[in-house]
Amino acid sequence: MKSIYCSFFGHQYEVSKKVTYHVKEYKCSHCSAQMTTNGKGGLTPLTPKYKEINSVLERIHFKRMDRKRKELSSVIY
Ligand SMILES: [Zn+2]
Repeated sequence: MKSIYCSFFGHQYEVSKKVTYHVKEYKCSHCSAQMTTNGKGGLTPLTPKYKEINSVLERIHFKRMDRKRKELSSVIY
């Protein structure tokens, strides 16, 4: 639902979740409208489909980070 504030001033998006370095989810602090970064680097409404894509991205991202950490610790120790 769009609040009166938003229809006057536009949405005030705040980062609600960092999915990867490049992909973030945003939430409007006034009306809770949700957006996310799409493949082209622009913003798009956070639909259930995008939520699913983001959760997959997040899993891949953390797996990669985990591997990097292990590689790094094997170099250090
Ligand atoms: Zn809003």
